[in-house]
Amino acid sequence: MNSQENFYDVIVVGAGPGGSAAAEKCAKYELKTLLLEKEKLPRDKPCGGMCSIIENPKICGPAITKIIENKSDCVKFYFNGKPIYNFKYNSLLFSRKKLDYFITKRAIKSGAKVIDKCEVIDIIVNSKEVRVVSEKGIFISKTIIGADGVNSIVAKKTGLNKGWNKNDVSLAIKSEIKMNNKEIEKRFGKNILVYIHSDFSGYGWIFPKDGCVNIGIGCRLSKADKLRDKFDNFAQQFGFEAKDVQAHMIPTELLKKSYKERALLCGDAGGFVYSILGAGIELAIRSGKVAATVCNEAVKNNDFSLKMFKKYNSICKPLIADIKTSSRQLKLFEFAIKCGLVNSFTINAFLKYLTKPEN
Ligand SMILES: Cc1cc2nc3c(=O)[nH]c(=O)nc-3n(C[C@H](O)[C@H](O)[C@H](O)COP(=O)(O)OP(=O)(O)OC[C@H]3O[C@@H](n4cnc5c(N)ncnc54)[C@H](O)[C@@H]3O)c2cc1C
Repeated sequence: MNSQENFYDVIVVGAGPGGSAAAEKCAKYELKTLLLEKEKLPRDKPCGGMCSIIENPKICGPAITKIIENKSDCVKFYFNGKPIYNFKYNSLLFSRKKLDYFITKRAIKSGAKVIDKCEVIDIIVNSKEVRVVSEKGIFISKTIIGADGVNSIVAKKTGLNKGWNKNDVSLAIKSEIKMNNKEIEKRFGKNILVYIHSDFSGYGWIFPKDGCVNIGIGCRLSKADKLRDKFDNFAQQFGFEAKDVQAHMIPTELLKKSYKERALLCGDAGGFVYSILGAGIELAIRSGKVAATVCNEAVKNNDFSLKMFKKYNSICKPLIADIKTSSRQLKLFEFAIKCGLVNSFTINAFLKYLTKPEN
């Protein structure tokens, strides 16, 4: 490879929904785009795979309907094991392996170069360029988008996140239980089940998918003592023997800053997650697209100043406002649990408040 081949307008690190969406949009802007992924593609990600907004053709295009595993039209909440509140809500259930690769393939089709099995080890940003040191050599670019998840190397090496505080991340555990679709329909219908308990400041879920049920549990890392035991008890309630159990962290707070000269963070890397739900797929895609827009403007104007990259923050303002609301709701819920204020009456009122359209 000569140096020309190794030089890009933008390097995106991580081929999850955030990085793939960012790379797709950069390529559509005709930026010379490189997407680096440490795993072999297609890769899986520990997740529930539930997302609502994604069906909107503006987010992922109409073809996304081909890979939807199931559609749910109701969330059923349980409190201390008893049904407490039903909420009519349309959501889509995906296999993360298929969803993420679907978006990655769109990035490739749009002109992005993708290299998998290529872990990024170091990043050096200077006034002239970004140098990305990887398992497969050194790549150089004008800009970089860190879409490499909660343990982002881009965030660390650019100094945007030296490491999460224990209170700023959740731990979630999940497993997929094989089940035929008739049995899934009989036991769960088209419902998503959410389990809340008066002595647990997180929640458990059941998502009916295609040929399997996704079961999981999560809470703030600082409260995650014996979470695996809680997960096993939860699975046993449904007669499930959980295999291939996976755990992963989810940010519960936005980083103070997700931008600097030549560098932006999107998705989990920047803390773009609805913390009350532990949901970040939609926000990863949306923040990834905003990051692409800012990199495009920077490259087209040959302006790599802090002022240019600060635009990321202002364009993300609506997302940031929603994330902050979600974070406040989570804190309120945790406070109520801590003070023993959560009972069937208060939780019902809280759920009604949360599911009001303006929230
Ligand atoms: C158990 C669990 C259940 C969840 N359920 C839901 C849900 O139902 N709905 C929802 O919306 N959200 C859910 N989430 C959160 C959701 O999974 C994340 O918010 C989402 O994956 C964020 O996407 P991303 O693109 O930012 O990062 P990721 O999907 O984490 O992708 C990051 C990518 O970067 C790659 N990478 C990392 N480091 C490097 C490196 N050094 N070099 C190269 N590549 C690298 C990784 O291999 C990965 O492919 C759940 C999370 C967990 C843990």
